[in-house]
Order: sequence, then C-alpha cells, then structure tokens
Amino acid sequence: KQSRMEGIEVVREIGRGSYGSVWLVRRSNNQKNLVLKCVELSHCNQQEVEAARQEVLILAGLRHPNIVSYKGSFELDRRLNLLMGYCEGGDLFTRIQQQHGSLFPEQKIIRWFIQITMALQYLHSHNILHRDLKTQNIFLTRSGLIKLGDFGIARILGSSIDMATTMIGTPYYMSPELFAGLPYNYKSDMWALGCCLYELATLKHPFPARDISALINRISRGKVGDVSNHYSEDLQCLVQSLMNRSPGLRPSTSQILLQPSIRNHISVFL
Ligand code: ADP
Ligand code: MG
Repeated sequence: KQSRMEGIEVVREIGRGSYGSVWLVRRSNNQKNLVLKCVELSHCNQQEVEAARQEVLILAGLRHPNIVSYKGSFELDRRLNLLMGYCEGGDLFTRIQQQHGSLFPEQKIIRWFIQITMALQYLHSHNILHRDLKTQNIFLTRSGLIKLGDFGIARILGSSIDMATTMIGTPYYMSPELFAGLPYNYKSDMWALGCCLYELATLKHPFPARDISALINRISRGKVGDVSNHYSEDLQCLVQSLMNRSPGLRPSTSQILLQPSIRNHISVFL
C-alpha cells in the first residue's frame, strides 16, 4: 500500500492550501529534503481533479533555474502527490512581513524582480500563463535565489481546457480587464508581476480593501499608489508601466529584461 511512499519520511507540514496540504519530507536514502504537495482527489469535483493533474503535467515539463524543480509524482489512495525541490527561504510574502516596515535595499528588489521576470519569460515563451502570480507563490532558496512555484491554475494557451474562465487566481492580483470579463492573457500575468514589485517596494499590497466589492471598485477605478521616492525613478516607472490599466501598454517580460536599467543589474549579478 505504501510502496511509493517508502523511502520518504514526513518532517512537518509547511502549508495548507484550498485543495491540499504541503509537507516537508526527507528521502531516507540520502537525507535530502523535498516538498510534497498532496491533493485529496476524493474531495474534488471532476474539474478540480483535472486541474490538479494539470499542475503536475505543467511542472513536469518545466526546467528553469528560477522555477521550483519537479522531482516526481504519483497517485495513491485517491491522493495526488507532487514532489518538488524544497525552498528553505520560504515564500516572499512571509519574507516581506519579516521586514516589519523596514524597506528593502533597491538592489535586492531588482535582483529578485529580475529572477521572477526570467521565470515568467520562460513560461510565456512556452505559451504558459501562470495566472496566480503573487508573493505567496514565489519562494526563496537558502542562498536567496528566487523559485517561482504553485502552478495550480497555470494554463497552456491553446489547450482544450476552457480559456475564458473569468474569476481565477487571487482577487487581490486581478487586473482591471478581468473584472471587465476579458479572458486572462499574458498581460494579466504582467499586471500581477507589477503587484509583486509594488509589494517589494512598499511592503504593502497595492489595493488594500475591506471586502471583495471594495477591492473590485478600487482596482477598476485604477490609480495605483506611488512607490516612495526613496527608490529610483526607473523603479517607480517600472511599477506604473506594469500596472497600466491598458493591457497593451504593459511591457512584456522580454521588453523589461532589455531595459538598460535592468540590463545593468543583470550583468552585475550573473
Ligand atoms: P496552494 O495551491 O495551496 O497555494 P502552494 O504550492 O502555493 O499551494 O503551497 C502553499 C505554501 O506552501 C506556499 O505559499 C509556501 O509557503 C509553501 N511551499 C509550497 N511549496 C514550497 C516549496 N517548494 N518550498 C518551500 N515552501 C513551499
Ligand atoms: Mg499558493
């Protein structure tokens, strides 16, 4: 019964999501830490089962230094298990909270941002939309490298699964066009990337709101708060361009990585 789980010891639970739990586990043969994401398929409807299997399929096909590494998967007793590399530094959301209001140095923000953008460029060049980009889904390794994770609602463009799904992802990170009923597209990921950059620079979410209707109101009315001029004009403009209300005016991942202010940083840390 436990055949595929043999050789894996559970260390502790590290996260609990809407559909399953996330565990730190250890391989008995080499004592290596891994993360096991476990979805109870018996609690899921057919669409959710498909989505859980889709996450495994997508992650298994990805290989990038800034994307969480796929280590294997198996189904056992109506549970879908996904094994991946462990990111000891935890997620960026928790990292931001640990600052207790003390701003990050600009260089640190830009280095993280470049790595997130490179992961997203890799996805977009493979016709994959992440659709749930947020600081809780961006992880850090022990050495402080970025690993993008949680492909739970990621989609391959042109796949048979319905593309027009509207209310997806986390409402906080939804772009104005999604509230207008337009389908999720590359530029909606770019908006969410802008939200992440805003959070790194202000330690706050761009649209604080009491409830969902207040949130929808704020995002649809637009006007993103300014980033403190403690940071360079380049960084302030980058946030505003990613969070442009018109999807077509937001830069693509490649356009960002070609900007001189960003290129200078890349040549420094690569
Ligand atoms: P969910 O679909 O439940 O949001 P996630 O994949 O985002 O699932 O995992 C939930 C949480 O578990 C994350 O926000 C993070 O704190 C933690 N986590 C997930 N995967 C890893 C990992 N590979 N390394 C470290 N922490 C992780
Ligand atoms: Mg998540």
